[in-house]
Amino acid sequence: MPQPYRSPLLSSLSWLDHAFLPAGERPPEESIYNHQRHSPNVVLDTEALPVKSQQADGLIGTGTRPVAVYTADCLPILIADTRHKQVAAVHAGLNGALGGVLINTLRRLCERGATPDSLMMAIGPAICPCCYELGDERIAGIQQENPHDLAGLIAFSTVQPVNRDAVRAQAKGTTGGVWFDLPLLAKRMAMREGVPEAQIELSEICTYCMAEAQASYRRNSHFDHGYQQRFSWIRRQD
Ligand SMILES: [Zn+2]
Repeated sequence: MPQPYRSPLLSSLSWLDHAFLPAGERPPEESIYNHQRHSPNVVLDTEALPVKSQQADGLIGTGTRPVAVYTADCLPILIADTRHKQVAAVHAGLNGALGGVLINTLRRLCERGATPDSLMMAIGPAICPCCYELGDERIAGIQQENPHDLAGLIAFSTVQPVNRDAVRAQAKGTTGGVWFDLPLLAKRMAMREGVPEAQIELSEICTYCMAEAQASYRRNSHFDHGYQQRFSWIRRQD
C-alpha cells in the first residue's frame, strides 16, 4: 500500500495535521474543497460550503475543518501561518500558477494577519522536470504574456534531467521542447512574495516516474490508463 507523504517542515508544527495522500484515497470526512478550475481564485473555508460549491483553486482554513485540494500532476501546496494559525491548500498547475493562484493565496493570508516570514509552505508530489515537457511555443507564450512578471522566475532545461530515483520509465520526449520545472517556479514565486527559502519545502517526488502508478494524468494519457486524483489536506488542530 502506498503511504501518505508528510512534509518534515509542516510536521514540525505541533498545532496542525496534514497529509499528501496517495492517488485514489479519500481525505478526512469533514474536509472542505472547491470545484477547481485552474483559476486564480482564493476563498475562505467559511465561504466554501457546501463542498465544491465554489470555483476556486486556493482555499484558506480559518477553523479546524481540513481544507483540501485534489491533483494529478499539478502542484498541491499546503501552507501554514505560524502567527495566526491559519492554513491553506492550493491547486496550482502551470496555468493556475501563471494566473496567480499561489500569489493570491499568500497575499490573502497576509491581509488576514500573516507576514511572509510567518508562512511555511510544502509543495507535494507533482510532475517534475524529469517528465514535464513543454513545447517551445508554450515557453515563448509564457515569456510574452507574463501577467505577474514571472518570466525571470521560470526554470527549464533543453536536456531532459535524469531522475535517479525513478521507479518507472521517465516520460519520453515528443515535442523537442524543454523540460519545465514547475515546483521551482512556485518556490521562486513564494520567495518573491517574501517567504524565506528555508520555509519552503519541495517533496521532489515526481508523479510521473516515482509516485504510485495511478497518480499521473500525463503518464496515464500517454499509456491510455485511467488515473485517480490525489488529495492533499491540512488542518489546524482543535
Ligand atoms: Zn519524473
